[in-house]
Amino acid sequence: MNYLQLHLEFKEASIFGRYITLENVEPLLLLKYNHEIIGQSVLGKPIYKVQIGTGKIKILIWSQMHGNESTTTKALFDFLNLLYSDSELSKKLVQEFTFCIIPMLNPDGAKFYTRENANGIDLNRDAQNLSQPESVVLRKTFDTFQPNYCYNLHDQRTIYGVGQTANPATVSFLAPAFNENREVNEARLKAMNIIVAMNTTLQQFIPNQVGRFDDSFNINCVGDTFQYLNVPTILFEAGHYADDYEREITRKYIFIALLSGMQFFTENDIVLNKNEDYLKIPQNKIIFYDFVYNNVKINYDNKEKIINFAAQYKEVLKNDKILFEAKIVQINNLENYFGHVQFAAKGATYFDAKNNIPIIESNADFCLDKTIKFVNGLKI
Ligand SMILES: [Zn+2]
Repeated sequence: MNYLQLHLEFKEASIFGRYITLENVEPLLLLKYNHEIIGQSVLGKPIYKVQIGTGKIKILIWSQMHGNESTTTKALFDFLNLLYSDSELSKKLVQEFTFCIIPMLNPDGAKFYTRENANGIDLNRDAQNLSQPESVVLRKTFDTFQPNYCYNLHDQRTIYGVGQTANPATVSFLAPAFNENREVNEARLKAMNIIVAMNTTLQQFIPNQVGRFDDSFNINCVGDTFQYLNVPTILFEAGHYADDYEREITRKYIFIALLSGMQFFTENDIVLNKNEDYLKIPQNKIIFYDFVYNNVKINYDNKEKIINFAAQYKEVLKNDKILFEAKIVQINNLENYFGHVQFAAKGATYFDAKNNIPIIESNADFCLDKTIKFVNGLKI
């Protein structure tokens, strides 16, 4: 299967970048897909679902339960375009599967570009309390649809790398635990098997850039609860790819992951034991900053000192756009860290408009030796 060609063909061109709100996706839902409103957010925004297919394998997929995690939503619309096409592949998929897709569970958080909903609650910690209307909508959909599989779609920050490598975790997966002992039962094994299939395909495109999330059990997380209820559940995390802060490249790999997982259902026996292969996927580790500057000379208390420091983009919503503002976040203790952008200062002296020393939380605007200028983290 030519995954890259398929993504090119079915990519939904009207949505792109990081700031994806209900206003962006609602016209698509109303015009193109067989939609239904299944509930309302705290602020009364509609929560939509799209159901398609007549197959016996039922998959419940939801995205943007964290409002500022939109990459997987974009990939879902690409996938919906494929499902709604008259291609042979689409015919096969809708015969084999029934998809229940909630593309934006947290429209208020999407609007405000926050992880939480309008009440400031993390919906992925509300699986037991069900204190929020969005949580109730998801749980009711789970109860009535009775899925055979659940896909829980998220974004992860740029700080994650794969194992001990200097590779970003462009895509990460987790088959959540269903108990404190993190045992493997049949349902969890099925989730692991699908992850192994997706990983095998992704390795062809992004070798050593796929990670596995920590499986500590937390029954308040939706994935853990659904796994506990014996429905194989997979957490997807869309992460960083070099220079792709808009996550348009990662979007493609999420699309490929979704599709390659489905291929696995149709071509293989799902009860194979791929537990070991799953555990071979390296764990995610926090090893990155957006910027690391090494061997920078500063004058502190009239003494010269060589330091390293790091800056990280803060995502700020302004005038309906996400601005990436580089802030200094760490000074020294960077031995085990990498920068997505790394600069060897070779002892050049730090100057800025204020104190001539890097200060935590200040903007990464400075000069080295007064000749090399950095604006918003980047050398210009
Ligand atoms: Zn998330």
